[in-house]
Amino acid sequence: MIDWPVTLPRRHRSKPGILAAVLASAMAIVAAAAVATPAAADARLDAWIEGLWPDAKAAGVSRATFDKALSGFTPDLKLPDLDLPGRPSNDSRGQAEFTRAPSEYLDRAYLMRLAATGRTLAAEHRATLEKIERELGVDRYSVLAIWGRETAFGHHKLPYDAITVVATQAYLGRRKDMFRTELIAALKMLDSGVPRSLMRASWAGAMGLTQFMPSEYFKHAHDLDGDGKTDIWHSVPDALASAASQLKGKGWVAGQTWGYEVKLTRAADCGFEGPTQERPISEWAKLGLKRANGKPWTDAQLALNAYMMSPAGGYGPSFLVLENYNVIRRYNMSDLYAVFVGNLADRIAGGGDFVTPWGGMGPQKTRNIEEIQQRLQALGYDVEKIDGKVGSNTRKVIGQYERASNLKVDCWPSDAVLDHVRKTASRESPR
Ligand code: CA
Repeated sequence: MIDWPVTLPRRHRSKPGILAAVLASAMAIVAAAAVATPAAADARLDAWIEGLWPDAKAAGVSRATFDKALSGFTPDLKLPDLDLPGRPSNDSRGQAEFTRAPSEYLDRAYLMRLAATGRTLAAEHRATLEKIERELGVDRYSVLAIWGRETAFGHHKLPYDAITVVATQAYLGRRKDMFRTELIAALKMLDSGVPRSLMRASWAGAMGLTQFMPSEYFKHAHDLDGDGKTDIWHSVPDALASAASQLKGKGWVAGQTWGYEVKLTRAADCGFEGPTQERPISEWAKLGLKRANGKPWTDAQLALNAYMMSPAGGYGPSFLVLENYNVIRRYNMSDLYAVFVGNLADRIAGGGDFVTPWGGMGPQKTRNIEEIQQRLQALGYDVEKIDGKVGSNTRKVIGQYERASNLKVDCWPSDAVLDHVRKTASRESPR
């Protein structure tokens, strides 16, 4: 059974050209196991494409679609998050959520502009949004906030061809398995009649007004306007219903908010952050946690499970977050993203700034954060990853260390914390 032609039609590769030569030699470097020639790199790519076919076929992709989509595939080596020689291991240049301070990512002026547009769009698409609330149980403000965060209500230009992006990530990315699945789903989209010219994407392969990954398209795309086509690119009803369907599929709890801003106490400091310390709000209330806006907890709220989130440690607002916060994170795996979407939803609904402002913290050196993580891990703290990033777990363990060491608990990898863990380590290490 020979499904794949021995020689692929790759005419553009056989043409001599400086760009082709540069790309080919870069590919050869990548193909560490192969002989470093363009021909070897081509052979490796051909073999990889050949290896995709059985899965594509099993998923129902036609041979004609497969050939047409991939016969001219050239990886885009300029994409972020690729596993290439000479790139740092924690390269995530494309992900603003991981490279910007909370005060910058949750830029107040930007949130206010989006919220103003969101309120206009809420009126314009009122019938659609009411239908979504009725049929899918996701409130209009959260749906609009996803649209606003993802593409600024359709104003972001999506610069990439989705097939090239997911194929490059599947071939050379850090998350090859995930993108292999996305590539097969993207091929299925082509096979189902979606034109390739429509499939414009972010660097990570997300498409349309509310940024759908190809696999999510098949799970959650929703033809709300009932014209027989699911158009997440041009139809606002389809795109918003698809986003709501995805949120519902990820566990959205109808009628519930994402979280409450709280004032931390000595008994419930920022070292209590994170999902591993989730408990009923009644327990948090016993530790003295109050809502930042001064409103008392209601009985219904006291019965809910919540965990603490302090994206800026002791230098910004803290929250008790509910299940819908987790659902928003499943749309895009970032705490800042979830807080942004939650706050934007509240603003569109008429809310405003958090009570506690985001403080200004100096830039943190990756190597200093890594050293703090390494030293806390050596001291027995529950450090998940040595990655040089100020994630939720890192803030938590720093807070726990500060509490145990009678330092000011700010859950932030400051120079003071670095000096202290160095001294502790030198005291505890055997001579
Ligand atoms: Ca439609």
